[in-house]
Amino acid sequence: MGFSTDAIHVGQEPDAATGAIIVPIYQTSTFVQEDLGKHKGYEYARTANPTRSALERNLAALEGGRFAFAFASGMAAINAVTSLFQSGDHILAGRNLYGGTFRLFERVLKGSGLVFSYADTRRIEDLERALRAETRLVYVETPTNPVMEITDIAAAAAAARQHKAFLAVDNTFASPFFQRPLELGADIVIHSTTKYLNGHSDGVGGAVIVRDAALAERLKFLQNAAGAILSPFECWLVLRGVKTLAVRMRQHDSNGRAVAAFLERHPKVNKVYYPGLECHPQRELARRQMKGFGGMLSFEVGSLENARTLLRSVRLCSLAESLGGVETLISHPATMTHASVPSEERRALGITDGLVRISVGIEDAEDLIADLDQALARIPA
Ligand SMILES: *Cc1c(COP(=O)(O)O)cnc(C)c1O
Repeated sequence: MGFSTDAIHVGQEPDAATGAIIVPIYQTSTFVQEDLGKHKGYEYARTANPTRSALERNLAALEGGRFAFAFASGMAAINAVTSLFQSGDHILAGRNLYGGTFRLFERVLKGSGLVFSYADTRRIEDLERALRAETRLVYVETPTNPVMEITDIAAAAAAARQHKAFLAVDNTFASPFFQRPLELGADIVIHSTTKYLNGHSDGVGGAVIVRDAALAERLKFLQNAAGAILSPFECWLVLRGVKTLAVRMRQHDSNGRAVAAFLERHPKVNKVYYPGLECHPQRELARRQMKGFGGMLSFEVGSLENARTLLRSVRLCSLAESLGGVETLISHPATMTHASVPSEERRALGITDGLVRISVGIEDAEDLIADLDQALARIPA
């Protein structure tokens, strides 16, 4: 079946007891057993809950995987993936990670003996050179936040496989509608469902999706053992969100292209980072491995002062962290999402004080452009 059909139907058969078309919120901690060892597949709700099972089946289908596991947040999902490894194992990560992921690696997991290093994974030679005998996991985000760098997933998967390491891809920015890393050879896909999968800025959650049964068995064990599960209500919200993922992503993409094109022509904008623009150095790779470019973009207005003027002047775009919701959010990476990254490093990643990030929502594109236009007009020439 096609993507939207799967999004609406997989895991969501009408309720057997009542015919309810929507999977109920099974707000229960335990399940009555008929006899010792005799039950309907559910014993205790940390281990499994029917609303969560429905979401997990659904997300597995959307990513072209076989197994999915829903977690309390994107960070809990990432933490579960790193729990597959042991003290002394090496994890090679992209140099341009979500801030929370970098913090988890450097300030939590390093202390328990995992070894981390970072490479510019845009260049596969750099990735290959950084692999070690002890490398067990290659971890990438593509496109990256906020400067939209792309890693060749198929090439990274081949390099990891040669070293008997897994490739994990954080697919939060693209969503499975535009990019399906498992089909390109990745072993593990991670989502912050908080973003596009939920899509309505009303819940925090995470997911891990795999194809391999042995990997799935270990993740299932870790999900139950550590217990950072997604609640039935939050699962229900994500199930509701994914039904419209395809239509939302098409609109995010269409608006993203329109806003990027507008900004690129604007005299007060020095540079736009969006994989759909001709000027993006990896546009061909993005076209090859993605079905669309989505609604995330960043642009450069030259200074902190100019960025502040712009952010204070927007009326329709909301100044906020997070992304992937139906409403347009605008943020300042250097002082918000990437404030904990040392300024040297920020500059090396292109995260200057004049960089502004937009998660382009699905409002009318002309209204978004008019809002940005009036706000840019307030920046002194
Ligand atoms: C938000 C985000 C995360 C973390 O997810 P939470 O749901 O906030 O815990 C991880 N990776 C990326 C790319 C994100 O945008």
